[in-house]
Amino acid sequence: MLTREEIKANLISAEKTPYGYRPKGSPFIIAFSKELDPAKLARTFSCGLPPFYIFGIKSKVAKDEYVIYGTDLQNSCPIEIEVTSKWMVIHLRRFPNDNDGEDCVDTLLRLFENVKAHFDEGATLKAEGGGGMSYKCARCGKVEVPNEGELCPDCQVEAWKEEVELWEKEMEEIEKEIAEHKRRWIEEFLKERDDSG
Ligand SMILES: [Zn+2]
Repeated sequence: MLTREEIKANLISAEKTPYGYRPKGSPFIIAFSKELDPAKLARTFSCGLPPFYIFGIKSKVAKDEYVIYGTDLQNSCPIEIEVTSKWMVIHLRRFPNDNDGEDCVDTLLRLFENVKAHFDEGATLKAEGGGGMSYKCARCGKVEVPNEGELCPDCQVEAWKEEVELWEKEMEEIEKEIAEHKRRWIEEFLKERDDSG
């Protein structure tokens, strides 16, 4: 189960980074423990009636898959829901005057509790995370970077240092080999000279 802070951290918003503003956050997933009727769910999540209070436009995007562009009528939080018979994905965006994200958190938790109470007691909620909207440094895993697989500036410097160290070690070994080769060559040269002399 997600905490309120974890939910807040995953709300979709814009974040200032050393590389400018970037989208941040990822969708939430409610996974069902049994097969549900997606058409019925889509109707429920778009009609605005209690207990869900979500009003929106629903469209069928595939066989047994619906998307709802909606609003939580209780706090005006914009909510986008994708629903199938096995899971639903929820996109929640931070919006102006949303009480530091608390309203969106309420919307998600209310939706989850109602899905459990009215459709599937065994449903589980998680954040998709790594949803392709924000990437962490491939080395330290802490600092955000603009593209997948990139390193943050500090880790980049560390990686270069390591590369130089490795290169120095290789050079040392090559030099050792050359010295050894020379030593043997001289030994053989002297031996041949002594033998012939
Ligand atoms: Zn890093």
